[in-house]
Amino acid sequence: MRTKIVAGNWKMNNDQTETITLIESLKNQGNFGSTRVIVAPSYVHLSQAVYLTTNSVIEVAAQNVHESTSGAYTGEVSPAMLCSVGIQTVILGHSERRAHFGESDVTLAKKVINALDHDMEIIFCFGEELEDRKFDNHFNVVKSQISNVLFELRASAWSKIVLAYEPVWAIGSGETASPEQAQEMHAFIRNLVRDKYDADLAEKVSILYGGSVKPANAQEIFSKQDVDGGLIGGAALSAADFTTIIKST
Ligand code: PEP
Repeated sequence: MRTKIVAGNWKMNNDQTETITLIESLKNQGNFGSTRVIVAPSYVHLSQAVYLTTNSVIEVAAQNVHESTSGAYTGEVSPAMLCSVGIQTVILGHSERRAHFGESDVTLAKKVINALDHDMEIIFCFGEELEDRKFDNHFNVVKSQISNVLFELRASAWSKIVLAYEPVWAIGSGETASPEQAQEMHAFIRNLVRDKYDADLAEKVSILYGGSVKPANAQEIFSKQDVDGGLIGGAALSAADFTTIIKST
């Protein structure tokens, strides 16, 4: 049985008061069963989020990390800094980082290595643009995004990898991949991992779906065999919606 995970990417939302309120509301939502629940507030609120979630099942992740260990990188944050405030998980490769901050596969491969060197877990995001899907190129795009960044890793490193398939056309757009489209891609991804490594590793890796998941569609998407939960943007900003989504696993 693979671990089910629902992670909320809060992006550049929520000031300190809103961060506290959202975490406290989530803590009051009761039992999430065996599903791992992760929230990713902004850097400035990570310490406080870790403090507020102590003794709760809610885990806290960062939305990014730098590829170097330290030095003259104004405005950046290293893995050691994150670990020192209790952060063990980081989201890497989000399409917004790729599009707005020019993060390439080469940069992402360095970030992954740096995070793994600090024993961090990585939620690695990838996904095709609408054009890719229109021209039936979506499988090729996803294959190259995964293989360029992750396929040099030793098999043992994969215990720290969570995959997140996020078709770019579905992020923040209100448009969702159909459950069948999600399942088709997730099965393709699991096969890629199986071919590169082995069946056991492929069976164990959690593959999340992200892209306009809402309370109304979560259950149908999560019911698919190879969908092991979700990476949630907009709907993660509401404790009630996020809770419904978590409980849909
Ligand atoms: C995301 O940004 O990772 C995401 C899935 O956003 P949304 O749920 O808002 O589409």
